[in-house]
Amino acid sequence: MQTFPIDISVTTSNQTPVWPNHAPVNLSQAATHERGDVAEITHINMGAHTATHLDAPRHFVPGGGLVDEIDLTTLIGTCYVHHVTRTGVLTAEYFAAQELPESCTRLLLKIDDHAGRLYQSEFYENYTAIDHTAAHYLIDRGLKLIGTDYLSIGPYHAGNVETHQALLGNDVVIVEGLNLAHVSEGTYQLICLPIRIACDGAPCRAVLMPATGLA
Ligand SMILES: [Zn+2]
Repeated sequence: MQTFPIDISVTTSNQTPVWPNHAPVNLSQAATHERGDVAEITHINMGAHTATHLDAPRHFVPGGGLVDEIDLTTLIGTCYVHHVTRTGVLTAEYFAAQELPESCTRLLLKIDDHAGRLYQSEFYENYTAIDHTAAHYLIDRGLKLIGTDYLSIGPYHAGNVETHQALLGNDVVIVEGLNLAHVSEGTYQLICLPIRIACDGAPCRAVLMPATGLA
């Protein structure tokens, strides 16, 4: 029996893998009990697109909305966790062949190949992602939010920009760096809240609740 809430975020630490050329996570202790300070104080230095985080339109759309401008109703509500057993680039054709719910406005991709990788400090460039044909297919079906369990919704080697531009250009919120390895395919209620910050991305705590309601 599944217990709720299901935490689908990863713990952020100095070992968290980051996108090539992004700042590494640096949680440094400015004051510690060990050194005789009365309070512990940590300084946080990391990119906005670290660990479990969301992308605001501004990330790829000049003049696009920032994190604090995202409508919270997009970030809370019914979602579908789709189990992906293959690897590589997922296209429109791939999604057309899947049995997604009729109305699928929030879609989270649980990708077998990603299990545990956000706890391995080395960046994994052969992660599975969606191309721009898939993005447009899902947008046409009413997509408002898409999530994935590695660091980018777009492929690393080619087409990353096109996938992001298609999604963010159509006001689809992207959540990256989720932890879905322990979640079964199916319908849930998603609650995914970023810190309130005027920025192109922000860390989030994301949880799943039963599909039947938030109470
Ligand atoms: Zn991002």
